[in-house]
Amino acid sequence: MTATLIDGKAFAATVRGKVAEHVTRLKDDHGITPGLAVVLVGEDPASQVYVRSKGKQTVEVGMNSYEYKLDAATEEADLLALIDKLNNDPEVHGILVQLPLPKHLDEDLVINASSPAKDVDGFHISNVGLLGTGQKSMVPCTPLGCLMMLRDHHGSLSGMDAVVIGRSNIVGKPMAQLLLGDSCTVTIAHSRTKNLAEVVRRADIVVAAVGRPEMVPGDWIKPGATVIDVGINRIDAPEKGEGKTRLVGDCQFDSCAEVAGAITPVPGGVGPMTIACLLANTVTACCRANDLAEPEGLTA
Ligand code: NAP
Repeated sequence: MTATLIDGKAFAATVRGKVAEHVTRLKDDHGITPGLAVVLVGEDPASQVYVRSKGKQTVEVGMNSYEYKLDAATEEADLLALIDKLNNDPEVHGILVQLPLPKHLDEDLVINASSPAKDVDGFHISNVGLLGTGQKSMVPCTPLGCLMMLRDHHGSLSGMDAVVIGRSNIVGKPMAQLLLGDSCTVTIAHSRTKNLAEVVRRADIVVAAVGRPEMVPGDWIKPGATVIDVGINRIDAPEKGEGKTRLVGDCQFDSCAEVAGAITPVPGGVGPMTIACLLANTVTACCRANDLAEPEGLTA
């Protein structure tokens, strides 16, 4: 391996440390404790793990955590009524409705029911528009974490060629907007992109957010490029024993690390940054709600 490893786990701990410092200052100087409400509908096992982890980390940085676990059969009107209550609760600065929602609920309607100022996931249509027009917004957590790691590694990203593989609303598109905001020349690739290997080979920065295990091989990577692997894919790992699995990214780690200048591992790269950025967004939302200066370096 020749690439520098970008350690998302360590970086996330640094972000959480900054959040905790700011929370202490908000409490000591202003008597305000930031609060994050997380709403889980149903019993999706992966979502339960995420929600538990979010609640634990929220408390660890000194914020208030409010968890709402609703039955899978919850009616839309009842979920919207809860979001309305949270919108009007001054103790709640951030609201996150864990996705995916059960099929009978309209995801867009629910996302847009949160007050944009409390939308710490950054998925509300107002925040999407604000980000797209270069205005102050709540920024989606996963791309924000990628941006923080890129800025930390490179300093300025100005003028760099960036290729984002994937055009989802939660990762690919906001990632592209953030890179554009930092003056990269940005290409968004997707499943219909022609000559993907050639497109990726032009990039100084590759962000892979596809959801296809180890799709990007090392020979797609320009020597010295930075590779940010967002993918989280579980694959069979017979070498670990029968029925065992392991996590891999969207990039072939070993071959990419031979060519790249820097790379994030999976696990331990982008993943830990996502919850750290959720906490950062909650502090940012709390400061904005109280007309206080925002912590530096915790948003785009
Ligand atoms: P998604 O909504 O399924 O989007 C995947 C994107 O990849 C789509 O835009 C799709 O193109 C594109 N794609 C699919 N096959 C392709 C191919 N062969 N060549 C080029 N592009 C292709 O996924 P997502 O929600 O953005 O998530 C992507 C990955 O990131 C997943 O592994 C997910 O688990 C992971 N993730 C990680 C975190 C984290 O915290 N680290 C957070 C969110 C997501 P089309 O639009 O043309 O279909």
